[in-house]
Amino acid sequence: MNLLYKSTRDAQHTVTASEAILKGLAPDGGLFVPVSMPKLDVTMEQLKDMSYQETAYAVMKQFLTDFTEEELKHCIACAYDSKFDTEVIAPLVKVGDTYHLELFHGATIAFKDMALSILPHLLTTSAKKNHVTHEIVILTATSGDTGKAALAGFADVPGTRIIVFYPKNGVSRVQELQMVTQKGANTSVVAIHGNFDNAQTGVKALFEDQELEQELMEKGFQFSSANSINIGRLVPQVVYYVYAYAKLLKNEEIAPGEEINVTVPTGNFGNILAAYYAKQMGVPIAKLICASNENKVLFDFFRTGTYDKNREFVLTSSPSMDILISSNLERLIYTIAGADAEKDQELMDALKAEGRYDITPEMKEKLSDFAGGYATEEETMAAIRDTYRSTGYVMDPHTAVAAHVCRAYRKDSGDQRKQLIASTASPYKFVKSVMTAIDEKYGSMEEFALIDELEKASGTPVPHAIEEIRSAQILHTRECDADKMKDTVKEMLAI
Ligand SMILES: *Cc1c(COP(=O)(O)O)cnc(C)c1O
Repeated sequence: MNLLYKSTRDAQHTVTASEAILKGLAPDGGLFVPVSMPKLDVTMEQLKDMSYQETAYAVMKQFLTDFTEEELKHCIACAYDSKFDTEVIAPLVKVGDTYHLELFHGATIAFKDMALSILPHLLTTSAKKNHVTHEIVILTATSGDTGKAALAGFADVPGTRIIVFYPKNGVSRVQELQMVTQKGANTSVVAIHGNFDNAQTGVKALFEDQELEQELMEKGFQFSSANSINIGRLVPQVVYYVYAYAKLLKNEEIAPGEEINVTVPTGNFGNILAAYYAKQMGVPIAKLICASNENKVLFDFFRTGTYDKNREFVLTSSPSMDILISSNLERLIYTIAGADAEKDQELMDALKAEGRYDITPEMKEKLSDFAGGYATEEETMAAIRDTYRSTGYVMDPHTAVAAHVCRAYRKDSGDQRKQLIASTASPYKFVKSVMTAIDEKYGSMEEFALIDELEKASGTPVPHAIEEIRSAQILHTRECDADKMKDTVKEMLAI
């Protein structure tokens, strides 16, 4: 059966999976969603003994039905290879009474690698299938991790170019260095004078600019997105939740059919939405616990049914979650509205015009699969310190937000189900915050010296991705104002 995709803002028009991957965002500004949610067609008993790559095929073939077996297996083999520093790709580590699913063993040591190592292959395969001959220009706004992961994924992939925009003072030093040292003749990196939402809004405007699209076409270019709104990002993320459950079963940590809870440190709502999709595919997940930092728009939304971005934007130690507009939430809104594109459009129009919207009581009832929580900066730092002291395990600040929220949820709800935590970045990537949380004496030390201290403290070797930037040359120095992104793109493409 061929699974088709629709825009969250258009009830009529459908596209194939490869068309949706190529387009990224729908022409009406909506997000592509499958017209029905596919189910797993293999049992957990079978999944138990599958490798990551085999699990990826079993899950992704249900979504990307217009890819041949050969095409999909080729994409998977190119993505999940020795770029990852462990053969299991996503290790499951027991930390105290929770299970951490470590999603940071790829090229850039953050969870974005899970999807961005396969997206370039899905995209170039989609282009071939649809007889696209234009050069594909990937435009990406990043709060830190997406940028580097996308650059690493697309660098020197024939037929593609990539332009990454990041907020100048909104990412860690390590994140910035990772990006500005990126090699590859087809890569560009631009620092924006503004925050992540400015960058993301700017990129969205470029995608919606039909005049620009026309100009690009004439010069042989076509935009596409590597942001988590692309279903080519979302679908590969469903895989690791299926994989994690199957491994918990294999390791006899849970009984067949036993429900678990999943806590996800959330920003753009992509990772947790993938967990929701895994649940709908048939994985026994009870609660999806959405963990926010001090930018707690989502916590307030789950509590009140009002989404309101009109508030102060806080810079925290978990910058990849410093987001006031969680783009992927639109897919959940559409689902709980009963796949009603008109209702979705109405709410998104309100978000654009007033920065807020209220869902109906009927919609709110359908959110019972979710729970929300948040961690303050102090709580996040305390979670890092306490976990280190009691178990010796070192978490990055994003994961620590989830660990705090998970513990608070357990205590407040009395829900004793086993807990899976999506562990989204290596502590090496946020070494300053992490080491200062462990002991204030590290606060005055320089980042690279702290890397050696972290190695001693954690007993895990310095990842290759970090070794690399110690000596790499800075190749990208371009900056621009948030309202000049269009001119900058035109200049870079020489159009
Ligand atoms: C992107 C990111 C997140 C947030 O994930 P979303 O899919 O945007 O919700 C959390 N932690 C880290 C380290 C990230 O890079």
